[in-house]
Amino acid sequence: MTKVRHVLGISGGKDSAALAIYLNMKYPDMDVEYYSSDTGKELDETYQLIDNLEIYLGKSIQILKAAENSHEDPFDHFLKMYGGFLPSSNARWCTKKLKLEPFERYVGSDLVVSYVGIRGDEDREGYISRKTNIQSIFPFRRNIWSEDVIQKFLANERLEQNMEVLRKFDFAGEQEKFEKILLRPLSMSYHEHQKLNMLLDIGVKETNHLIHAFLKTTQYPLAYDEANFPLLDNEDNLIRSDIFRILEESGVGVPAYYKKIDFEINGKTSSYARSRSGCFFCFYQQKIEWVWLYEQHPELFAKAMTYEKDGYTWMQNESLEQLIAPDRTHQIKQEYAKKQEKMFSKKSAFLLDILDEEEGVGCASCFI
Ligand code: SF4
Repeated sequence: MTKVRHVLGISGGKDSAALAIYLNMKYPDMDVEYYSSDTGKELDETYQLIDNLEIYLGKSIQILKAAENSHEDPFDHFLKMYGGFLPSSNARWCTKKLKLEPFERYVGSDLVVSYVGIRGDEDREGYISRKTNIQSIFPFRRNIWSEDVIQKFLANERLEQNMEVLRKFDFAGEQEKFEKILLRPLSMSYHEHQKLNMLLDIGVKETNHLIHAFLKTTQYPLAYDEANFPLLDNEDNLIRSDIFRILEESGVGVPAYYKKIDFEINGKTSSYARSRSGCFFCFYQQKIEWVWLYEQHPELFAKAMTYEKDGYTWMQNESLEQLIAPDRTHQIKQEYAKKQEKMFSKKSAFLLDILDEEEGVGCASCFI
């Protein structure tokens, strides 16, 4: 019997932590392996979250480190190799070297189902491995399948085969509805997402069973998994507020850097926090998050500054030294407070803020 491994990467962010808790609560019989890729430059809050999760899960989280034999932190080791060239959103060598490659080494040639915490209220795809032995599943979304699976399942060349798959099931009153949708070919005016949503609208569980039956005819890892795949019957769609609730109720808690801290600007009170996990100097940070780092973790900010040399800076248009000039931090806070005010007047203050809106930006391997 071929063994299929089920793995979940803990990034240090709230969503992957909540996913670990959620799967453990809902499917206690699932044998999930947990791992976390350590860049050596994470915030202490991230390490604290990992400790809390290990206690909650009663299992250890395997720490993956790139350049294991180096005497330096993984990030510093590779920075040297890249000649001091700081990573950026256009040259993200850090994700490749520090997150993806260690993960692919950890998996090797084993068949792996990888669980990813992208939520039902997000419009982004997670990392999809080019390695065919790794398959991603998104338990928080109504559509738990990755884009590549959906594309293959709904391809026009499969219309007849999908009918055969459908005939294996008896969805009582819904059989004809499924048939009608499955038989209609994709076109310029009828695209994949529309077709998928129509299937899910008739029945999430039924659609999952159809896709799973299709997968059994492929080389995807789930085709080889002998065990029942319990997520086929999962109809949940979890959004941001659910994630906070899961973390709080479990006792694991929300990572401390999400906690809003008040600051005064022009006689008014505003608040800031950090919106994501990852390296403390991550270039995906917004300006206000750099100010947060400067004021809340001055020692880390000072360390981040030491990386800026030979013309390399973390941000394209200004150095950290320029950012901490008093006028400049004042201006950043002022602009941020204004945006926040504008948003709060448009929406419920509870629902969104600027940091939340930005949270989907960046790297799925580091921030989920
Ligand atoms: S958190 Fe940012 S800097 Fe760190 S590895 Fe990820 S993308 Fe790179």
